[in-house]
Amino acid sequence: MRLVLLGPPGAGKGTQAQEISRRLEIPHISTGDMFRAAIRSGTELGRKAKEYLEAGLLVPDEVTIGLVKDRLSRRDCEGGFLLDGFPRTVPQAQALDDWLAERALKLDAVLDIEAPREVLLIRLTGRRICPACGATYHVVYNPPQQPGRCDACGGELIQRQDDREETVRERLEVYDRQTFPLKEYYRQRGVLYEINGNQEIVQVLKEIGAVLGREWA
Ligand SMILES: [Zn+2]
Repeated sequence: MRLVLLGPPGAGKGTQAQEISRRLEIPHISTGDMFRAAIRSGTELGRKAKEYLEAGLLVPDEVTIGLVKDRLSRRDCEGGFLLDGFPRTVPQAQALDDWLAERALKLDAVLDIEAPREVLLIRLTGRRICPACGATYHVVYNPPQQPGRCDACGGELIQRQDDREETVRERLEVYDRQTFPLKEYYRQRGVLYEINGNQEIVQVLKEIGAVLGREWA
């Protein structure tokens, strides 16, 4: 199966991606992971990507598209793939469709894992970390025994800048602005499936399985 996974930060995309990839035996292709790996190994692409990312800019479509096409041409993608983080823009989606059409292939489904923005805010802003020992907590889902104190070492817990409400709201707004035209693109092509991400992980997986015609318990 050839799948694209969409979903805002905090919707649980990572967990679902792992499960889908394992159950369908298709590679999980995360462009975020690919960029990080390219940057670590210092390839030309990695250097290019790093310049943009360090300047807080999006990596241009042509760079990203080249990277993804290379990856999709590898043998392990012959039986399908699960794309995560790509496409992000309509031109990227068009490039993917063209690449598939040249090979007489098409996407089976675009899975959009959604949850109310207020739920995502709670999930994403609740994280606390202990700077002393690195332990992580969540004020709702994994609270320390004593509020604001690390269970392991007694250190004072802090909230990272990235987890602050203004930052999280901004990230969610950027995501929504960016993906709105993309979702329209796929909706018009009849391949977009909205999945309710505001339920237990196993229920989300079950819903995805149903869309793909599998019985996943
Ligand atoms: Zn600690």
